[in-house]
Amino acid sequence: MSDHDEFARTLANAETALGQIRALGHQATPRNFEIWYTYATGHNQALNQSINETLVGEGRLTEQDLGRIYDKHLSAIRFVDRIDEVGARIIGEIDQVKSMISVAIDSADHYSKSLSGAKKEMSNPLEREQLRLIVETLVRATKEVEEANHSLQKRLVDSRQEINTLQENLEVVRTESLTDPLTTLANRKFFEDAITRMIEEAEAKGTSFSVVLTDIDQFKKFNDTYGHLTGDQVLRLVAMALKQNVKGQDVAARYGGEEFVVLLPKTALMAAVTVADHIRRAVMGKELMRRSTGETLGRVTISLGVASWQKGDTVAALLERADSCLYAAKRAGRNCVIAETALDASVAQVA
Ligand code: GH3
Ligand code: MG
Ligand code: MG
Repeated sequence: MSDHDEFARTLANAETALGQIRALGHQATPRNFEIWYTYATGHNQALNQSINETLVGEGRLTEQDLGRIYDKHLSAIRFVDRIDEVGARIIGEIDQVKSMISVAIDSADHYSKSLSGAKKEMSNPLEREQLRLIVETLVRATKEVEEANHSLQKRLVDSRQEINTLQENLEVVRTESLTDPLTTLANRKFFEDAITRMIEEAEAKGTSFSVVLTDIDQFKKFNDTYGHLTGDQVLRLVAMALKQNVKGQDVAARYGGEEFVVLLPKTALMAAVTVADHIRRAVMGKELMRRSTGETLGRVTISLGVASWQKGDTVAALLERADSCLYAAKRAGRNCVIAETALDASVAQVA
C-alpha cells in the first residue's frame, strides 16, 4: 500500500471513530477515541466482538462498559507488547552469552589438545630444538586462551550490565501492569492477588484483616454536570485521600470505575471503621476546583462498607459482606460508614 493509501485509510478510520463517538453520545476522550479507532481498523477482533455483543445486548455502551473494554482489550495489549519486547531482548542477550560460552569451550578444547600433544611428544627423548618448538607452541596456545578469556570476561561484564537494565525494565513493566494509570493506585489484579495472599496468611497464622469498600456518591450526576474529565479528577482526589490514610502493609486499590477498596492487615473491625471514617472525612474536606477556570465545583462524598475476614471466608464471601455494608451506607443517606458487627452480622452505623 502506498503512503497515500495508508494516509487515506488512517483518516477514514479516524472519521469512523469520531462518527461512532458522536452517534453513541460518548465523551471524545483519548481513551474512547482509541477504542473506536481500533474498532474501525478491525485489527482487534476480540475488542470488536465485545463491543458488538454489548451493543446487541444492552443497546448502548456506558462509560463503565468502555472502561472495561479498554482495560481488557487495549491497556493489556500494551503491556503484553512491552513484555514481549523486553522478553525478546532477554532472549537475544542469552543467545549472545551462549555463543560466548561455545567460543570459550572451543578455545579450552583447543588448549587441552595442544597440552596433550605436547605431553605425547615429550614422552620421547627430545632434542633442544624440538623442546623449543613445543614450548613455543604451548606459549602461543596459552596466549590464545588468555586472550579468549579476556574477551569473554569483557563481554560477560557488558552482558551483566545489559541484563541488569533489562531486569529493571521488567520490574517497571510489572509495576505498571499492576497499577491503575488514572489514579496510580494498585489495580484490581494487584488487589485480587493481595487479598488472596492475606487470606492464606490469616488461615495459616490465625490472624485476621479488614476490608473497606467505597463508592463515590452521586457520581453520575457529577459527571453529567461537569464532564467526564473533571470526573476523572475526582477519582484522583479520592485516590489521594485513600493514599493519605493508609500506611505500611495496607493496600489501597481502584476496584473498578468509581469504586475503591482498602485492605487493612491485622486490623479489627472497629479500627478499620476508624480508618474508613478518616478517608470519608478527607474526601468531603476537599473543595473541588476546575483547573482551567479556577471555578469551584463544591465537594464530593463517598459511602463506605467495612467487613472483617472470618475463618472460612472466601474472597467472594468477604467482599459480598463489605458490599452489603456499602449498599446499606447508600441507603442510610450516603456519606457514611457502615460496618458489619463480627458477632451477629447485624450492621452498626458510624456517623
Ligand atoms: P451512588 O451514589 O448510588 O453511587 O450513585 P452514582 O451516580 O455514583 O452511581 P452509578 O453507579 O449510577 O454511577 C456510577 C458512575 O460513575 C457512572 C459513570 O459515569 C461514572 N464512572 C465510572 N467510571 C468512571 C471513570 O473512569 N471516570 C469517570 N469520570 N466516571 C466514571
Ligand atoms: Mg458505583
Ligand atoms: Mg457511585
